Amino acid sequence: MKSIRLREGKERSLLKKHPWVFAGSVDRGGGDSGETVRVESSDGRFLAWAAYSARSQIRLRAWSFDEAERIDAGFFERRIAAAVSMRARLAIQSDGMRLIHGEADGLPGLIVDRYADTLVAQFLSAGSERWKPQIADALLSVTGCTRLYERSDSGVRKLEGLAAVTGWLRGEGGTAVTICEHDWQLTLDVHEGHKTGFYLDQRDNRARFAQWVKQFGAQRVLNCYCYTGGFSVAALAGGAAQVTSVDSSAPALERARAHVALNGFDASRAMFADADVNAYLRAQLEAGQRFDAIVLDPPKFAPTAAHAERAARAYKDINRLALKLLAPGGLLLTFSCSGGVGAELFHKIVAGAGIDAGVDAALIARLEAACDHPTTLWFPEGEYLKGLALLRPS
Ligand code: SAH
Repeated sequence: MKSIRLREGKERSLLKKHPWVFAGSVDRGGGDSGETVRVESSDGRFLAWAAYSARSQIRLRAWSFDEAERIDAGFFERRIAAAVSMRARLAIQSDGMRLIHGEADGLPGLIVDRYADTLVAQFLSAGSERWKPQIADALLSVTGCTRLYERSDSGVRKLEGLAAVTGWLRGEGGTAVTICEHDWQLTLDVHEGHKTGFYLDQRDNRARFAQWVKQFGAQRVLNCYCYTGGFSVAALAGGAAQVTSVDSSAPALERARAHVALNGFDASRAMFADADVNAYLRAQLEAGQRFDAIVLDPPKFAPTAAHAERAARAYKDINRLALKLLAPGGLLLTFSCSGGVGAELFHKIVAGAGIDAGVDAALIARLEAACDHPTTLWFPEGEYLKGLALLRPS
């Protein structure tokens, strides 16, 4: 077993059970891509068993802080079983859920989503890549599913020196899947969709939106960055008269349109716009349109803190426009999924947008990712999705 010695003082984060060690903290030692190594403090004390990433700035990702633990097929089976049994206790209102959320489930670099009987995995680090066959076997044996699709085509693999890979890892067949979220039928394609196919993290927020649309009697709803229309279906279920869904992806809009019919809503209640959201919002303002509820769920504007400033301007701009478009008494659900923009900063940005728009609003709820996307006490970086529910005075 190879050992890695850290520089003096660099053991602190591992002692706090934070699973990452950056390249600059390593004094000596190395390994092959994804190899399990023993990590030691500068005076030779055991700190963790970790996966070595030869290429990434995140040089080590801890598998275990227990010296007695062996990193083998049984280890992965235990960790996967623990994550799956936790989900079983959460009473999730869907057969689509995240089973493994990387670091938060003690499995750095591994994401696994379950869509009905199909599993979809992303292997995002050298360590998870190295243990792929054992992880695949454990996923099937723990869940009882027979199909596992790989979507290791995320850009972060490049940082690990890994090429993009997609395809069936276990089982085979078509890649179209239908899930039942709350009372709604939602379809996706595990090969073509974003990430693993669907935005499971917004599940609870979609349900709350349906509830709010109903409670506030919102009639005109605008769903910006709608993807396949999850929030649009929620608005229709909540009783909205007119729901406009905007996205710049034609295939996503096509699926959003199909979801309206699949869930039994009259097509006349749903409108779709293939457009850039910023330009669309400006055009609506110019045309004097107003909406009773608006959702803003943009893509990641700031992947890291280094992009925060530019992202802040982009967030502020769309939020200012959306607040101006809100009718008196209207509801805005506004989100950021940028890891580089924290909840506090996001709040400040939206507050600034309110000042610029000259619109006051009550913050009626803070929103976050659904509980199958947990963060842990020891890994606050795992927190990414944050949102605000704002109600304009009548
Ligand atoms: N709210 C969705 C997820 C949104 S993901 C859900 O609940 O499923 C972000 C979406 O923004 C993607 O569908 C992407 O196609 C779209 N998008 C990215 N940039 C855009 C832009 N400038 N204008 C319109 N849509 C954009």
